[in-house]
Amino acid sequence: MYELCKFGSKREPGHSLDLTQVTNWIPVRAARIADEWADKRSRSTGRPGRAMGYDPRLHFPKLMRMSDPADDLVFPYEGPPASGAIQEVAPGVYWLQMPLPMSLNHINLYLLEDDDGYVIVDTGIRGEETRKLWQQIIDALDKPISRVICTHMHPDHTGQAGFLTNTCRVPLSMSYAEFYQARAMSAMMMGSGSSWQMSEYFERAGIDPDFMTKMREMRGSWTPQPEDHPFPASFERLVDGQLLTIGGQTWEVLTGSGHSPEHVCLYSKSLRVLLSGDQILPIITSNVSVSPSEPFGNPMPGWLASLARFRERIPDETLILPAHNLPFYGAKARLTQLIDHHEDRMLILEESCVEPRTAVELLPHLFKRELTGPSMFMGLGECIAHLHCLMHRSRLSRSLDEGIYRYRTIDPTLATRARPGEHDDLDEPPRPNYV
Ligand SMILES: [Zn+2]
Repeated sequence: MYELCKFGSKREPGHSLDLTQVTNWIPVRAARIADEWADKRSRSTGRPGRAMGYDPRLHFPKLMRMSDPADDLVFPYEGPPASGAIQEVAPGVYWLQMPLPMSLNHINLYLLEDDDGYVIVDTGIRGEETRKLWQQIIDALDKPISRVICTHMHPDHTGQAGFLTNTCRVPLSMSYAEFYQARAMSAMMMGSGSSWQMSEYFERAGIDPDFMTKMREMRGSWTPQPEDHPFPASFERLVDGQLLTIGGQTWEVLTGSGHSPEHVCLYSKSLRVLLSGDQILPIITSNVSVSPSEPFGNPMPGWLASLARFRERIPDETLILPAHNLPFYGAKARLTQLIDHHEDRMLILEESCVEPRTAVELLPHLFKRELTGPSMFMGLGECIAHLHCLMHRSRLSRSLDEGIYRYRTIDPTLATRARPGEHDDLDEPPRPNYV
């Protein structure tokens, strides 16, 4: 059973406290911010804040410092909310987690408390397990659901949008591109997605024809069950820069592209909180892919520009609430890591293409292990996204020989930029977030 863990209330078991580690600048800032929240809550609700014996450090228990790749990040929570709990992480901002039936085994979802209800931010994946969990939450909340916001169109974020908007009779808010991409994806899952273009995309990448057979078999498991509500047919549009007022707080819509076409983040300057969706993740990297539905797409420049824009925009004392992994501080460091990492991947590809290579031949230059199934789909798409960006920068050329694309280095300055043997470690294979 879900229950609200209100700000300043007794902590869930499992949130152990180790004040000896609460020593550096982040907890000092975090404690100051928490103090302010407690004061604000006290003023607005008439309920005592700190006077009740509330120690803000309890809100930022044992700091967990991660080694690579998140050395410069601070994780104020050592784990997700206890099973069945909803954790308040800022006034009126609640964090919960739901399972994903795949190697990326969880998604973080959020509730924003409004005057007359709760706004859901991201819905979890389709299927009975998540649907039942939502029903428990709806039953346990002290106010109804008033709106559903999806940060972007991926199935782990939109899977229950139909169920929630139909059951609660509330609007769905999304950006224009994400809504229509979700509609297109839902049509594809219903069986109208196979095409000669999709086969050609994989053939030209140099993929084994057997893979296509496996992909076709796998596609059967994406087909929604009759109990899954269809994706909603209407929406309310969110646009970059739009201001939403939720529970008396102002939230700015900030959009990014690359991982998906018009990904929405919600930023509250006054709460110092960013709901970042998949736009900023602390540990894993978001998949940036060329997909068979847009075989000549070039998403990487938009992704890099989005990361740079968020780095410019989001102060370091902002608590980043991502869709995967744990909440963290250190947006600027993480965004710099991500930009540097993609540039490093592209330099590897340039160095590897002195002799012409196919996209499939380049995969072992980027990933630690052989890619299979959906990981192959995502890893290949990501490799091609980096290759297209390099073509766009006039650093690689591409030729079509016997039906397969081969990429070749053409930039003479590579000799001064190359640093073989000094690259970041190879990446883990991408972790699918869909079935
Ligand atoms: Zn996503």
